[in-house]
Amino acid sequence: MPTDEPVKAVRRFWQRLGLPGLFDVHVHFLPANIQQRVYAQFDDAGPKIGRPWPIRYRGSHQERVELLRALGVRRFSALPYAHRPGIAGYLNEWARSFADAVPECLWSATFYPEPEAAGYVADLVSAGVDVFKVHVQVGEFRLDDPLLDDVWATLEDSGTPIVVHAGSGPVANAFTGPEPLRRVLASYPRLAVVVAHMGAPEYDGFLDLALRHDRVHLDTTMTFTDFFETEAPYPRDLLPRLVDLQDRVLLGSDVPTIPYPYLHQLESLARLDLGDDWLRAVCWENANRLFDTE
Ligand SMILES: [Zn+2]
Repeated sequence: MPTDEPVKAVRRFWQRLGLPGLFDVHVHFLPANIQQRVYAQFDDAGPKIGRPWPIRYRGSHQERVELLRALGVRRFSALPYAHRPGIAGYLNEWARSFADAVPECLWSATFYPEPEAAGYVADLVSAGVDVFKVHVQVGEFRLDDPLLDDVWATLEDSGTPIVVHAGSGPVANAFTGPEPLRRVLASYPRLAVVVAHMGAPEYDGFLDLALRHDRVHLDTTMTFTDFFETEAPYPRDLLPRLVDLQDRVLLGSDVPTIPYPYLHQLESLARLDLGDDWLRAVCWENANRLFDTE
């Protein structure tokens, strides 16, 4: 962990709220070889990144688990994501053994539009997987690809949450934006989608989906921080919607690939000034309800 890590201030944040800790729905743990390639993308400010992005938490898996424990993050995800066909199986095996070894970690998995997807997703759901992640900006696929029809049907039935990075941040492509998700929800309206990054920068369109579909949640990942506010500021006139959706906003951080201390995400939520009940819901209660924990 960085030597200047403000651990005590993070612990004071949740202690002051009377919480037992934090539930962070958006943390990444990937196999070491893939993690290195992701870091390299960020280090080069590659085409999917678009701006300098100094990664703060580059430690080993063990060091990062210890960091989260020290901060009081009592539950977190691993969120692997497939950037091409043929690798979801490998990522899913890896994430399963990671969750077995780390009791606080949600059993996380991914899928890709490929003929095998319906089968492996159904198998994972029957085996009790906790959460899926898909990333259309990196994976370059359509959420309403017909190869995913049976996947969505399975996940709508099971109620398993799916963290979906579909917003056009940090760099838009032909697959990002709220429209593909809108079409999926038109066919599968009960899906427990968690919109990553509050849908940045298309906050309005994604919040609208949450208002129309009561199983749609949003994670705060990087949103409201100085780093995001300079590029994709959250519109002040949409602040009341965060109150309307108080029971469906979930704390997310994007550890390890963030360029500021963990504390900054928390302070960015606090400075919205939506009150302590809102913070308790977002940082702990909502995710426990969604994942049926505690
Ligand atoms: Zn992420």
